[in-house]
Amino acid sequence: MTATLIKGTDIREEILEEITQEVAEIKEKHGVVPGLVTILVGENPASISYVTLKIKTAHRVGFHEIQDNQSPDISEEDLLALIDKYNKDDSINGILVQLPLPKHIDEKKVLNAIDPDKDVDGFHPVNVGRLMIGGSEVKFPPCTPYGIQEMIVRAGVETSGAEVVVVGRSNIVGKPIANMMVQKGPGANATVTIVHTRTKDLAGHCKRADILIVAAGVPDLVKPEWIKPGACVIDVGVNRVGEKISEKTGKKIAILKGDVDFDAAKEIAGFITPVPGGVGPMTITMLMHNTLRSLKYKLGLI
Ligand code: NAD
Repeated sequence: MTATLIKGTDIREEILEEITQEVAEIKEKHGVVPGLVTILVGENPASISYVTLKIKTAHRVGFHEIQDNQSPDISEEDLLALIDKYNKDDSINGILVQLPLPKHIDEKKVLNAIDPDKDVDGFHPVNVGRLMIGGSEVKFPPCTPYGIQEMIVRAGVETSGAEVVVVGRSNIVGKPIANMMVQKGPGANATVTIVHTRTKDLAGHCKRADILIVAAGVPDLVKPEWIKPGACVIDVGVNRVGEKISEKTGKKIAILKGDVDFDAAKEIAGFITPVPGGVGPMTITMLMHNTLRSLKYKLGLI
């Protein structure tokens, strides 16, 4: 069997189009658009490229966007004051602080200073708690897990009663996606197992999965014989395994690999996400979705 590819690049286009339309409708009816600020401290090249892409996407969907670049020497106190300014700014619905921050700044303190109602990344403890409670308590599901759930739903994969196995227990992927899939409601209602480095029989657990979500950061960790025939395999892993020259630009680019042996797995799985072009494009997409949600909460539309 050859699996159906779940392409994040296609789903991204679908969702960004939906967001663009909704933003235009809200602008017409209410005279406002969602506002997103990204705060970048320093000049880490990877952070610059992430922030640039976020701002470019925000612009594309019609948001009011601010890229606030700060010197690497900014004090913790000044950074907290900046966040306070945006917390109070009515035109801003989402605040994003690009990580990592310089060593002299306490990341936790900074992230916790963001107003939970503008925490569109969904990392504030209040939003983690809301996600755990589920249902109408949830405001901002964290973007990568939210993207994963959206891919599963849009691919038409049944989640109710499904055996979901999540490989990895990080706070940004493994734990939140497991929590989301176990909730009562559409796109969830699953029976969930989380496996990790101390799990005794990794292969045995994976083999039971109707939906296998892998976020370990280990290239080719999941072998084809660990996959149940017809299963939906979501590969979150992004591993740099070398470099090559891009045919398009002539520049050096990273060779990326997922956590699943894709070529062999696609012959067994029913659905599979590629790397790159799978989960990757969904994270920024869902950040836009959450920023729009934030404005809709404010306007009483949800
Ligand atoms: P992490 O390192 O914080 O967590 C990895 C988890 O996997 C840990 O809980 C660990 O216990 C588990 N694990 C590691 N090796 C294992 C093994 N051999 N067997 C079983 N469990 C194992 O990583 P993370 O932040 O959750 O990211 C995981 C992967 O997903 C990385 O490759 C990362 O680059 C990628 N990622 C992609 C996106 C995206 O595409 N948008 C977003 C976030 C993370």
